[in-house]
This record gives sequence, C-alpha cells and structure tokens, in this order.
Amino acid sequence: MIPTTLDLTADPQGIARAADLLRQGLLVAFATETVYGLGGDARSGSAVAAIYEAKGRPSFNPLIAHVASVQAAQRFVQWSDQAQMLADAFWPGPLTLVLPLREGNGISTLVTAGLDTLAVRVPAHHTARALLAEFDGPVAAPSANPSGQISPTNAEHVRAGLGGRIAAILDDGPCGVGLESTIVGLAEEPTLLRPGGVALEQIEAVLNARLHLHQSGDLLTAPGQLQSHYAPDAPVRLNARTRQGDEVLLGFGPVECDLNLSAKGDVTEAASNLFAALHKLNESGRPIAVSPIPNTNLGAAINDRLCRAAAPRDS
Ligand code: AMP
Ligand code: MG
Repeated sequence: MIPTTLDLTADPQGIARAADLLRQGLLVAFATETVYGLGGDARSGSAVAAIYEAKGRPSFNPLIAHVASVQAAQRFVQWSDQAQMLADAFWPGPLTLVLPLREGNGISTLVTAGLDTLAVRVPAHHTARALLAEFDGPVAAPSANPSGQISPTNAEHVRAGLGGRIAAILDDGPCGVGLESTIVGLAEEPTLLRPGGVALEQIEAVLNARLHLHQSGDLLTAPGQLQSHYAPDAPVRLNARTRQGDEVLLGFGPVECDLNLSAKGDVTEAASNLFAALHKLNESGRPIAVSPIPNTNLGAAINDRLCRAAAPRDS
C-alpha cells in the first residue's frame, strides 16, 4: 500500500519525476489520447504484478507495451514490412500491433501472459510521448481504473479509483474521450483483434489486403482460445501437497518443490513468476502439480489462470 499518491504536473520536472518512479519499479498513471493509462516498467515482473494488484484484476490478460518510437518497438518484437507500413501510416496513434517477440526481448512474461507475441504501440499524446522518451523503456499500461469500473478520462477519476494504490498521477487535464486503440495481429495473417480508433478500412487500404476478422472481436477472451494459448502441454493438477508419480511440483510458500513461485508465500511475487515458471516446467515434459495458492489479492488471478491450465483440453 502506498500511503500517498503524488500529483505531478505534466511539465518537464513532473515528467522527469514520473520517469524516475517508473525506473524504481513504481506505478504512474498518465494521459494518453484514449484514456489515462496505468504505467509500469514492462521489463519488471514486480511492476507488472503491481499493475494487476492496483487494478484488482481478477485474471491475467496480456497488456500493451507502450514505446516511444518504431526503433524502440524493434528492440522487443520481430519487425516486418507490414508492421513498417502500418507504423508509417498510423504511428504515433491509436493502433496496436501484435508481433512475435524477439529473442532476448527482456519483457516480463506477465505482460504477454506467457504468449510468444507482444502488443506494442507508440501513443500520440504529447505527455505520454514525453514520458516514454524520458523513461527510455517499454511501459505496460492498461486503463488506470479499478477492474470492472469505467475508464478514467481525467486525473480526478484516477485519484478516485486508484489513489493510495499507485505512486503518482501525471496530471495533464482531460484526455479526449477516445476509442481504445485498434489491435491488429501481424504474427500470422493480418487479423483485426479489436476494433478501435483506426478504422478497418484505413488499415486495409494501407496493407492493400483484407484483414481477417476474429469472430469474438477479442481473441483472448474466447475461452477455447485461452486454453490453447495458455495451457502447458502436460496435465496440470492443482492444490497438490506432494508429488504423485512422475510429477514436477510448482511450489508456493515454504515447501520442498522443483520450482517455487514464492518461497515466502507472497502472491505478488508469485504472479510475476507464474508464466516463466509454467514455461520452464513445461520443458521438463512431466505432469505439473501446483501447491495451493491463497485466493487473496493476486492469488485469485493466479488461480484463474491455473484453473484454465488445468481444465480439460479441447482436442
Ligand atoms: P487494454 O490495455 O485494456 O487496451 O487491452 C489490451 C488488449 O490487447 C486486450 O484486449 C488484450 O487481449 C490484447 N492483447 C495484448 N497483447 C496481445 C497479444 N500478444 N495477442 C493478442 N492480443 C493481445
Ligand atoms: Mg480498461
């Protein structure tokens, strides 16, 4: 719990202070052209876990990494000609591109929710851009509101929802009550993953190709998709006290195990380790047993994800 949330003015001093807080792994809300975003260093598992905690999000969905420029984006994702065409046409602006992660990208697996793709965007808002340039790193930023509540379009909304839970609000007045960013997947055939601020027709005109449409409009809320995307290959057994048969044990708290999400029993630390741990144990090729994890704070989101991983598989 952070006792006071700093109110920073969006001048060079305030922006420098905000970048400093981000460097310390703390959370800063800032204006974008859509809504206020809740930013944290996308390379820091604990900062990203803190985003989920501050919002009280009940489940882990991948977050958009905000960067200052195309060059910055290229450090984290495998760039392509189509990405370049869309970036030339719409960046900075409300278009998010989903591209394959680059080797050695350094992005926390909690940002991608364990996927091998990353959503990246260069926002157009002058304060967001100034902050990203000053911070000089990728900032994960969902909307700066408690989960399930309305997106904030001014600093007062942010304070009412998250005051006392985040380090600072970089106040830049009201943002345009914009649409969310349009999300286009480029990891495979160009696909519209979410409609938003840039129209489908504009994107198709630039690519000179039709976009595939995802039926649900949001790839990652479709339960079938979730399973195929998130489940390890091996069966997963929850609330395990000990290993059975050939299992590897993913521990929580002071237990003897193969890999521990948090030996001190801290759910925030466990969240930041979750996806990397699942990947690692998956490589063993053995069934995975998981210690009980309390359902408090981020524990609920961890259990949500583990339940999906343990759910019966689509064939
Ligand atoms: P928000 O940050 O609230 O604007 O939401 C981010 C959106 O981006 C969510 O709908 C995610 O499902 C989507 N998203 C983020 N990363 C990916 C990814 N790697 N693949 C597909 N969709 C993504
Ligand atoms: Mg939101």
